[in-house]
Amino acid sequence: RAKADPVRHVCFYEVGMDEKIRARRLLAADLRRALEYNELSLHYQVQTVIATGEITGYEALLRWEHPQLGPIGPTEFIPIAEENGLILPIGEWVLRTACAEATTWEQPYKVAVNLSAVQFVHADLPRIVTEVLVQTGLSPERLELELTESAIFVDRERALHMLRQIKGLGVSVALDDFGTGYSSLDTLRAFPFDKIKIDRSFFSSTAANPQTTAIIQAVLALGKTFGIPVLAEGIETYDQLSMLSAEGCEEAQGFLLGRPAALADIVSTGQIVLTNPYSREPGAGSREKLPHQSH
Ligand code: C2E
Ligand code: MG
Ligand code: MG
Ligand code: MG
Repeated sequence: RAKADPVRHVCFYEVGMDEKIRARRLLAADLRRALEYNELSLHYQVQTVIATGEITGYEALLRWEHPQLGPIGPTEFIPIAEENGLILPIGEWVLRTACAEATTWEQPYKVAVNLSAVQFVHADLPRIVTEVLVQTGLSPERLELELTESAIFVDRERALHMLRQIKGLGVSVALDDFGTGYSSLDTLRAFPFDKIKIDRSFFSSTAANPQTTAIIQAVLALGKTFGIPVLAEGIETYDQLSMLSAEGCEEAQGFLLGRPAALADIVSTGQIVLTNPYSREPGAGSREKLPHQSH
């Protein structure tokens, strides 16, 4: 069909590209203002020990409520923020907000924060993490930074140096989305990760699948070899959870265990109890639902 009408085909293609670039530019401009207009917030998703159901931590997931377009997902706007450097102030805001919010939790659960490769290669990262820990008073062992292998890919030597500096602060580091991208066995050998997160794409089919089981077994064997516990992401069904349990996977995260939600909603369902709900900023939570208050 393209051959029959090459001109129209080419025009259509170019207009499409143009629109995309235009949309990205507009979004980048809006994103620039999103921080100062309080349009960004964090959702939290629970991470649990499979054998006991015990909560170990919560992953902070960035949300953007665009004033006209409504909610925009991080997979859409984070690449834009990475392109224009905005990921640095945004990432610092995420880190500071997640650490500050975690200090209000009564239980010392970990808080897991995603780091962009752009943040990870930035020389300032150890200083920023130190500063945030001091300012918020969160103890370093409660902070876990999540990295993907794209952060290591650019310059392994430098990445290893950065990882050691970060770990030297007492913070733990998880390897996110394992099994996608540039995953290599050498990364696990050479880099002192505290956790491997198996990418949720391996669980995309909800039916029992011998291939998925084989992949899980392989990753768990790697984890054992290198002494790194494994967390499975994107767990949506009991079948998946019982398979993981049978295979000896340590931790799980996914809609089955808890959907990402605003802290206020997690508090109102009793998953998290705050040490002092009144210390939180006004408007941040649905206070009328806190357990100690009469309805
Ligand atoms: P991720 O770090 O691998 O986060 C897990 C993603 O899987 C989240 O998507 C979460 O909502 C989704 N998820 C969790 N459980 C399930 C499940 O059972 N089923 C399905 N279908 N999905 C599940 P989300 O929140 O859209 O975030 C997507 C990605 O955006 C994250 O992947 C992470 O790479 C990035 N991201 C999110 N927040 C931040 C941030 O603050 N900074 C940076 N640099 N990246 C972030
Ligand atoms: Mg993550
Ligand atoms: Mg992941
Ligand atoms: Mg991901």
